[in-house]
Amino acid sequence: AIAALCEKILAAATPEIDLGDYRANIGVSIGISRFPRDAESTQLLMRNADAALYRAKSNGRGTYQFFEAQIGAKLRSRQMLEVDLRQALARGELRVVYQPQATIRDQTVFGFEALVRWTSESRGEISPMDFIPIAEESGLILTIGQWVLRQACTEAAGWATPLQIAVNLSAVQLRSPALPALIAEILTETGLAANRLELEITETALIQDFDRALNTLLKVKALGVKVAMDDFGTGYSSMSNLRAFPFDKIKIDKSFIHGVHANDQAAAIVRAIVGMGRGMNLAVLAEGVESEQELAFLQRELCCEAQGYLFGKPGDIENLDRT
Ligand code: C2E
Ligand code: MG
Ligand code: MG
Repeated sequence: AIAALCEKILAAATPEIDLGDYRANIGVSIGISRFPRDAESTQLLMRNADAALYRAKSNGRGTYQFFEAQIGAKLRSRQMLEVDLRQALARGELRVVYQPQATIRDQTVFGFEALVRWTSESRGEISPMDFIPIAEESGLILTIGQWVLRQACTEAAGWATPLQIAVNLSAVQLRSPALPALIAEILTETGLAANRLELEITETALIQDFDRALNTLLKVKALGVKVAMDDFGTGYSSMSNLRAFPFDKIKIDKSFIHGVHANDQAAAIVRAIVGMGRGMNLAVLAEGVESEQELAFLQRELCCEAQGYLFGKPGDIENLDRT
């Protein structure tokens, strides 16, 4: 009966609403928890319904989801991870590792990408793929991102050779109006020349609040900082984003580079991106280059730059040759 009711609600919300000058769409997602099966107190019922709603949204919205014990378990483990992450910085559990970026023609290292690492005392090594999303949802990414940026700029400012330093920016940071001032402050504080800093932004970071992101990005670029589009090809509307934003570089996602020499489809995509970069006067970097065959392919296609295990894994800076 509940499912049938949900279907009815979803169907009722589907039609476009005519508002005269424009048409509006209403999105509906439904989370359900049942008394007394899922919980006995109002508070817990609401919390479980909320957890189910959260799942319904991540299943693509416009759908309904019953609460299940495993949703609750997942939510709790996520909340516990967030609690640990909150303390990670203060406890000194975060560190930054650096991965070399090289030119393809003569294979010289021209810079490093800063990548954050978390070794939790209780959980061990946790991948950024697992904790960055939690940091983003909880707003912790503002503190963590600022710390990484300051750490990476301080590190690079101390290098004997003025190589480039690339730092990842999250969508949440991009939406912060304080970002340009923060970057300016870090550059002054560390003495790093603005043109040695490159910020990496994914497409999904842009589309969330396009106008605000564009505005912030233009202010950041006015400082003389470079901006790269990360994981190119995996988001949506890549092409229109490329045209609207003042990017300096495209980073081709590693999923297209893996085995590219032996995969006609991937090869065609990489070839097209490299050609597009050339036409738009953008540098193109191939991510995740692991083999000589992949490198040889990129060399033939005249791709300019590469990063990947073939040149070096992300590592602690003491162990990297940065002269
Ligand atoms: P990303 O920015 O695209 O970073 C590249 C990822 O590819 C890194 O994963 C790197 O370790 C991995 N990688 C590099 N070379 C190879 C290779 O040859 N083969 C394979 N299979 N993988 C390679 P990592 O360090 O796990 O980071 C994952 C993602 O987490 C990053 O993707 C980035 O989006 C995010 N991230 C990492 N550090 C930060 C940070 O400080 N701030 C923000 N906002 N995001 C970060
Ligand atoms: Mg990156
Ligand atoms: Mg990437």
